[in-house]
Amino acid sequence: LRRDGFSPIPDVKWEDVGGLDLLRQEFERYIVRRIKYPEDYEGLGIDLEMGFLLYGPPGCGKTLIAKAVAHEAGANFIHVKGPSLLNKYVGESELAVRRMFSDARTCAPCIIFFDEVDALTTTRGKEGGWVIERLLNQLLIELDGAERRRGVFVIGATNRPEVMDRALLRPGRFGKLLYVPLPSPDERVLILKALARKKCIDASVDLSAIAKMEACENLSGADLSALMNEAAMAVIDEKETLTDLTHYTRTIKRNHFEVALRKVSPS
Ligand code: ATP
Repeated sequence: LRRDGFSPIPDVKWEDVGGLDLLRQEFERYIVRRIKYPEDYEGLGIDLEMGFLLYGPPGCGKTLIAKAVAHEAGANFIHVKGPSLLNKYVGESELAVRRMFSDARTCAPCIIFFDEVDALTTTRGKEGGWVIERLLNQLLIELDGAERRRGVFVIGATNRPEVMDRALLRPGRFGKLLYVPLPSPDERVLILKALARKKCIDASVDLSAIAKMEACENLSGADLSALMNEAAMAVIDEKETLTDLTHYTRTIKRNHFEVALRKVSPS
């Protein structure tokens, strides 16, 4: 069995996620509090969804928020990239899916994150589609075993929800659809502030003003992360050009962001 990534509990906190407040609230209700305080949910007869599909443009935090949910819930995290399940010999894909759910049950509470989940369904009916067909059927069997699935949540991510096989989107499977949009100007501010937690930013820098500049329009979270890195690189590059290092500080200033903004554009 080859898994893409089995990591115990991811090290991504809510503070690392900028914006996406509504999503965070939904995941708090549906996963985090349910794992941390199961007694609150008992006896109320609520039938809550265990499967989620995050959809939206690339680089806007789908993977990041899934990891943060696992961290905040104290849940194990199995990260599987959809296409990797397909690169197998006959029968191995189904076995891989069965083992994955079996591992997840063993280490429950657990979140299985299916990145590029659309890859498991798009070529239905095409050449080689039978591999997907069998894999998909196995996945549906595992997803439908609600009793056996206790403590195992699934989160799928896709940039192309329209090509997903409808069968996967039924309640109990990836039943709750959540849109992860391109950030608004205010959300860009929150993302830059979240990213700044791990960087030395000079106190004089106004991140809100930078995030709201025209040059930042349509930048995704991943683009903003690239911007932050370019700005940090500009600090290093600057040192090379200085003959007198008396006033040199290893902090990111406004001029470094200006250099970075010329290099980064919406992906
Ligand atoms: P893809 O569809 O390409 O897989 P994705 O939506 O899963 O993309 P992520 O992998 O979560 O995007 O984001 C890539 C990187 O961009 C993150 O590791 C993080 O550095 C940054 N990022 C994206 N969105 C946010 C956000 N809302 N807050 C903070 N950082 C973000």
